[in-house]
Parts: sequence; C-alpha cells; structure tokens
Amino acid sequence: MSNKKIEKLIGELLTELGENPKREGLKKTPQRVAQMLIELTQGYTTSRQKTINDAIFKERIHNMIILRDIELYSLCEHHLLPFFGKCHVGYIPKDHIIGVSKIARIVDRFAKRLQVQERLTQEIAKEIQDALSPYGVGVVIEAQHLCMMMRGVEKQNSLMITSSVLGSFREDQKTREEFMSIVNKSK
Ligand code: ZN
Repeated sequence: MSNKKIEKLIGELLTELGENPKREGLKKTPQRVAQMLIELTQGYTTSRQKTINDAIFKERIHNMIILRDIELYSLCEHHLLPFFGKCHVGYIPKDHIIGVSKIARIVDRFAKRLQVQERLTQEIAKEIQDALSPYGVGVVIEAQHLCMMMRGVEKQNSLMITSSVLGSFREDQKTREEFMSIVNKSK
C-alpha cells in the first residue's frame, strides 16, 4: 500500500467535494487520512502466525472458556463508515488453549479490514477453530453501524447481533445455551 498514492487520491476527493485542500485545516488531512486508512485496514497484512505468536499451550482442559465484551471497531465495506460494539468469544479446548489476549488480537485482525458484520463473526469463529482445533467455538457480535445512524434510515438505537457457532456449540444445544447465557448475563 502506498501512502503517497492514497494522499493524492484524498486530496482529489476533497477538491471534488467542493473543498480547498490547501486551506489551513485541510493541509495535512490527506496525509492523516492515508495513515488512518492504512491503520484501520492493517488486518490485510497480518498473518495467523504473527497474530498468535506461539501463544498456544498444551493443556488438557475441557471446560468452556469465554472472553466477553471485547471492544470492536470495524469499517463497513458498503459505506466505509465505522461499525462498533462488542464481541464475545467462547470455546471448549481439546488439547490446546490460547493466550487470552490473542483472542482479542484475532478479533482485531479480522475487524481491521473492510467488512460486513456477518462475515466478520464467521471469520473469527473459523480462525479459532482452525488454529486450536477445539471441541467447539462460539462468537457473538453486537454492533451499531454509523451508516444506519448518520444516513439512510437514521436509526440511532438499533443493535445488530450476529452469531457463529461451530463444532459442539453448533451440535449441542446445551453447550450453545450455556455460552449464550453467560454472554447475556446482566451487563
Ligand atoms: Zn454500511
């Protein structure tokens, strides 16, 4: 990705919008926006290896592990506006557990791309499934979309909830219910 090229394009966009990109407040805007866009899409350039960084440990624990309320910020691919909220991840390990902060890093790796919430939810679940081969995984995302709040239908309080369940979370209703009840426990 080339900073300079993005800067140039943002400058052109400002002009096209009827602005003067040379005025005081906008002078450095193309540069700032270019840096910001690269940061917000850095999920394209990180790998599983880099994200998890060997923090997978052999451990014979077969109980459900849940990380709740992981802050989530992403960009909707239809409007390039943010959607943001919380992600909840649960899994039942088979032979390995993962360092807890790495779950949050996996969420970020897929959130920092142009996304739709539905696909993001599934990608996080699948990544944990592929990296750990646990008995099962569940991911729930609750998010608000600025493209719905600021424009279009202008609904300020709607919350979109998506879930993706794999393995025992999909096959066993009790497991799924246990996960959902912990995720929904008085917030
Ligand atoms: Zn949108």
